[in-house]
Amino acid sequence: MNKLDAQRQKEIQQAEELLFAGPQALGFAKGLFQGHFVADWVMPYPRIPAAQQAELDGSLTELRQFLDEHLDPAEIDRKADIPRSVIDGLGRVGVLGMTAPNEYGGRGFSQMANCKILEEIGRRCASTSVFVNAHHSIGIRALLLFGTHEQKQRWLPKLSTGEQLGAFALTEKEAGSDAANVQMQARPSEDGSHFVLNGEKRYITNAAIADVLTVMARTPVPGSDKTSITAFLVTPDMPGFEMLEARMPKMGIRGTATGRFALRDVKVPKENILGPPGKGLKVALTVLDFGRTTFGACCTGAAKTCLRLAIEHANTRKQFNKTLGNFHLVQKKIARIAADAYAMEAMTTITAALIDRGLEDYMLETAMLKVFTTERLWECINDVFQIYGGSAYFVDCPLERMMRDARINQIGEGANEVLTSFVALVGMRGPGMEFKEIYDTMMKPTRERGIAKAWAAGKQRLGATVRVPEIPVHSAELRWFANQLGRLIWRFNVAVNRALITYREPILDMQLVQERIANAAMDLFASTCVLSRYDTELQFTQRNGSSSSPDQFAADLFLRQSFRRIRHFLAGLTDNEDKLVLATAKSVLGKPES
Ligand SMILES: Cc1cc2nc3c(=O)[nH]c(=O)nc-3n(C[C@H](O)[C@H](O)[C@H](O)COP(=O)(O)OP(=O)(O)OC[C@H]3O[C@@H](n4cnc5c(N)ncnc54)[C@H](O)[C@@H]3O)c2cc1C
Repeated sequence: MNKLDAQRQKEIQQAEELLFAGPQALGFAKGLFQGHFVADWVMPYPRIPAAQQAELDGSLTELRQFLDEHLDPAEIDRKADIPRSVIDGLGRVGVLGMTAPNEYGGRGFSQMANCKILEEIGRRCASTSVFVNAHHSIGIRALLLFGTHEQKQRWLPKLSTGEQLGAFALTEKEAGSDAANVQMQARPSEDGSHFVLNGEKRYITNAAIADVLTVMARTPVPGSDKTSITAFLVTPDMPGFEMLEARMPKMGIRGTATGRFALRDVKVPKENILGPPGKGLKVALTVLDFGRTTFGACCTGAAKTCLRLAIEHANTRKQFNKTLGNFHLVQKKIARIAADAYAMEAMTTITAALIDRGLEDYMLETAMLKVFTTERLWECINDVFQIYGGSAYFVDCPLERMMRDARINQIGEGANEVLTSFVALVGMRGPGMEFKEIYDTMMKPTRERGIAKAWAAGKQRLGATVRVPEIPVHSAELRWFANQLGRLIWRFNVAVNRALITYREPILDMQLVQERIANAAMDLFASTCVLSRYDTELQFTQRNGSSSSPDQFAADLFLRQSFRRIRHFLAGLTDNEDKLVLATAKSVLGKPES
């Protein structure tokens, strides 16, 4: 085995240990890759229970009133600061501890209800929504998920009310997208009472205003010369904590304090370890799953603002003696924003519900949600920007700020390219393992048990490619869409199988193939969420005798456009210029001076 192969094997083994821990219920996205439609996770469209809905409505009313009176997104951007009075107010209305259990001072909201809160903030101010996400979705998440009762009792009450703030510190110079490459060291003391932390973190939201930081550092694996990552709770009053740059000046979400800090021989008591020692990467990835869900909610809110702004302008601005809304090319943009906003909300709601309903493994769905909603929001902002023409370019219009703010979404909490590749590879692992089983057994046909296993795997694979999955909608009007979706899932499965058979292990490096597979999977998931929501809304309208709502046009449009995109992605697997793309890139990469 050469050095590269050995490195690849090591990476595969690490990923296997990290991502695939034992048997779990088949989730929706992994089901898609196996040709199944696991309807129970996505249909009927989830609803917040009535008692909780009343509490949520009360919180939303209180939040809206507070934001109307006290939140000035333009000033936050101009002054590059979120006033402490706003942070305190968010704490008072419960936003900073929404999902923390009541016993630790939180509101005990579900992830679905919390997403509605974040959508409301995301509608208005991205700096504020990112601040809340950094504190609540990721800053205190490891404590909520992995903390012991004692740790929660000690830390959560102040963090849940905003009296103290949290941050999540994973990123370093050498550990950006490659999160596993954390270099910060945590050396155990001789007596085992504490760890000594050394290293630097950068790009950390809330670092300079946080009272408690979840910090990922590398610890030795006892009895070996290896190291692994462990999560620690660190406070800035610990001797050796040095803030190198409290607020790195930046392009967007300027109200957030993004900082760099160093830990120099910082002694952290062993009681501050979060989760199992050595399992910090798993802790970090699980935390980020939550962050990606509320990311979806914030993007949904911002997309709804895009729609409102687009409608306002298209109905008032006149050119050629007509309001802009009369022009088809403007209508096309507005229709697309409406369709995307509808889908983003549906996808966020269903993903949040997966977490609330106890699906153990939702990393594919959260990754899909993050990529899909951040990419669609970017398109929405670009479209409404165009509708506003020159006026969008000036700072008295919120669009230039929204555009600057939205750009980080495609990079933060996992760059979209990395997550796209992740979706394809994790999704294809299931069918890939079945093919491997068949292949390995064919190479060594003497092992009887192996043949039985290969036969089972073969039947499973074959079954998925001959069956078109049934999509159980209630509304007769949606039967055509359901049939189309079933056929596309079948076609997707055939395409995944073909790619796996054609490329085998090298597919691990073929990101252009991975991208098409992931994009098709994301649109299949988005379409499913839209169909589920559409079906429930139609049923509700029919029961209550009201006529069709504008949302139904948006849902209809989304499904048709999404189906078209899926067909396009799948066709691209065999009809493409990939070789030329890669040859061109290689030729220019080899000549950096030109
Ligand atoms: C404003 C802001 C706030 C942040 N807040 C936090 C925080 O609170 N906590 C925290 O820990 N981190 C935070 N981050 C860090 C953020 O998560 C990282 O910036 C992100 O993970 C990307 O890492 P990087 O910037 O080092 O980019 P790199 O890893 O250098 O990647 C650069 C680009 O290369 C491409 N790329 C990289 N790897 C691959 C690949 N495998 N395949 C294909 N393309 C690839 C992608 O296009 C990517 O955008 C924040 C960053 C910013 C800008």
